[in-house]
Amino acid sequence: MVERTLSIIKPDAVPKNIIGEIIKRFETAQLKIVAIQMRHLSKKEAEAFYYVHRERPFFDSLATFMSSGPIVAMVLEGEQAISKNRSMMGATDPKKADKGTIRADFGGGIETNVVHGSDSPASAAFEIPFFFSQLDLVR
Ligand code: GDP
Repeated sequence: MVERTLSIIKPDAVPKNIIGEIIKRFETAQLKIVAIQMRHLSKKEAEAFYYVHRERPFFDSLATFMSSGPIVAMVLEGEQAISKNRSMMGATDPKKADKGTIRADFGGGIETNVVHGSDSPASAAFEIPFFFSQLDLVR
């Protein structure tokens, strides 16, 4: 089934000049970029994006991190895009992520883990319109 998912290259990754490397991995895996933007979130915007985690002890730290520098938000489209992106990302903690995954290769720690990806169709349905309008999505 062809799906769409939201991917974010996080603020720890942008200064490492690995935007191209990450996008190349998605394209090689037959995930198509159908929308893309670079922006610097405010802390309030980061809190709104991660609203689902508002009760977690790391919520404030996560919002501070996600607003600490520019990010690249993308919509990826392809067969099983949601689960495919999640397996390419690797586990949340880069130390526990499988070899060859994006987080294992480039992650610094459990928070500075390079990429975000929607974890379900329901998350994708919230996260894609958070960044992109219908008009932004190419078809
Ligand atoms: P993901 O779906 O793999 O991104 O993981 P989660 O949805 O559980 O967490 C969202 C994000 O919060 C992660 O990608 C990390 O950046 C951060 N995070 C998760 N767990 C922790 C933690 O225990 N401590 C801190 N500081 N950040 C965390």
